[in-house]
Amino acid sequence: MNDKLLKQYGEMAVKAGVNIQPGQTLIINAPITAADLVHHCATAAYDAGAKEVVVHWADEKLSRIKMDRTEKDVLCDVKPWIQDSYLQYIRSEGSAAILSITGQDPELYKGLDMEKVNAYSIARMKALAEYRDYTMASRIQWCVIAVPGEGWAKKVFPELPAEEAVEKLWQTIFKVSRVEGDAVENWKDHAKQRAERRDRMNEMNFDKLHFTSANGTDLYVGLADDHVWGGVSEYSEAGVEFIPNMPTEELFTAPHKDKVDGVVYGTKPYVYNGDLIEDFVVTFKDGKVVDYDAKSGKELLKQLLSTDEGALSIGEVALVPASSPINKENVLFFNTLFDENAACHIAFGQGYPGTVKGGEKMTTEQLLEKGVNDSVIHEDVMIGAADMKITGICKDGSEVEIFNNGEWVF
Ligand code: ZN
Ligand code: ZN
Repeated sequence: MNDKLLKQYGEMAVKAGVNIQPGQTLIINAPITAADLVHHCATAAYDAGAKEVVVHWADEKLSRIKMDRTEKDVLCDVKPWIQDSYLQYIRSEGSAAILSITGQDPELYKGLDMEKVNAYSIARMKALAEYRDYTMASRIQWCVIAVPGEGWAKKVFPELPAEEAVEKLWQTIFKVSRVEGDAVENWKDHAKQRAERRDRMNEMNFDKLHFTSANGTDLYVGLADDHVWGGVSEYSEAGVEFIPNMPTEELFTAPHKDKVDGVVYGTKPYVYNGDLIEDFVVTFKDGKVVDYDAKSGKELLKQLLSTDEGALSIGEVALVPASSPINKENVLFFNTLFDENAACHIAFGQGYPGTVKGGEKMTTEQLLEKGVNDSVIHEDVMIGAADMKITGICKDGSEVEIFNNGEWVF
C-alpha cells in the first residue's frame, strides 16, 4: 500500500478528526497490524504540538484465544485499571483526545460460546461506562477510523487472496474517506456542505418521521423534545471542533424513546459480538420492540434486545442517501463505521446527549424526560433502501417530503 496515502490518512485522522491541540495528550486505540499508520498518527500529533501520545495496542488473534480459553467469571471481572488508563489522562489536565482504529474481523468470535461473549461485552461496557460518557456526550475530542485486517478484508472480498483483499480494502477506505489531494481540506468542505442541510432540518423541528419502502418497512419515528440534528463535526466541552467518525455521511438525531411505531426491515447484515445478524424485521409499539425475527442470527438479535430495558428502544435515527459514496462502492463492509454511512439507520440503545438542546449538561433522568433513551448498548442497524421514502410530519400535522427513492429531496 502507498505510504504517502497512509501518511495522509493518519494526518487526516489527527488534524481533521480528533483535531489535536497543542499541549493535549493523544490516546490511540489500535490493532497491532496498524503499527505503520500509528507511527504516522503519532508524528502528526507531535507536529501539531501534542504533549504525549499513548497507545493501547490490541491483537485480535489473542482476543479470540483469550475469549475461548478464559473462564466467564474471570473475563467478566473487568479490572478498574482499564478504565483508569483512559480517565487518568482525561482527568489530569482534562485535555486528552481519543483516536480509535477499528478493523476487527467481523466474525472474530464465530463458533465460540455466544453467551460468554455477550456477558463479557456487557461487563466491559459497564466497567468503562464513565469513560464512554466522555465520548458519547462529546465532552472530549474523539474519532474512529479503520484499517483493514486480513480477517476483515477476506470477509469483504472473499473472491480475492488475502493480500489482494487487504490492498483492495485499503484503496476502498482511502476513496470513501476522501484521502486524495489535501484530505484535511476535503473534510472541511464536506463539513460545510452538510451543515446547511442540518440547519434546515433543525428549523423544521419535525414532530415525527415516516419511513416507507417496498420491502415492507412502514415505521413512524417520533422525535425527542427539543431534538437537534447533528452530523459531520461536533464541539468538545472545551470548544474544540472535531469529527467523530471518518468517513461520515449521516445526519442524525434523537428519536423519542416512547414514540416509535410500526415495522422495519433490516437492509444490510449487522455484526454483533463478532457474529452476524441478517435479514431481520422488528415491530415497535409505543417505542418498544414487541416482535422480531431474523433469517440468521435471531439468537444474537435476542441477546442484543435483552441486554437491558433500554435495548428494546432506539436512541438514534440517522438519514443517509442511497447516493452516499460508501453505498456507491456497492461493497458490504461488515463494519458499522462504513455500513451505517451507506444507509439510513436506527440504533438500539443509548441516545447521544448532544442530540437534544442543552443535553450535554443534563442528567440521565432529564434526558429520559425529553425522550432520549438510556442503555449500556448503542447498536446501529441499517434500514435504508434504494426506494426509501421519508416524510417529515410537522407539529401542526402538515407533511414535508424529505427522501424520495432513497435520496434527499428536502
Ligand atoms: Zn449513526
Ligand atoms: Zn449510532
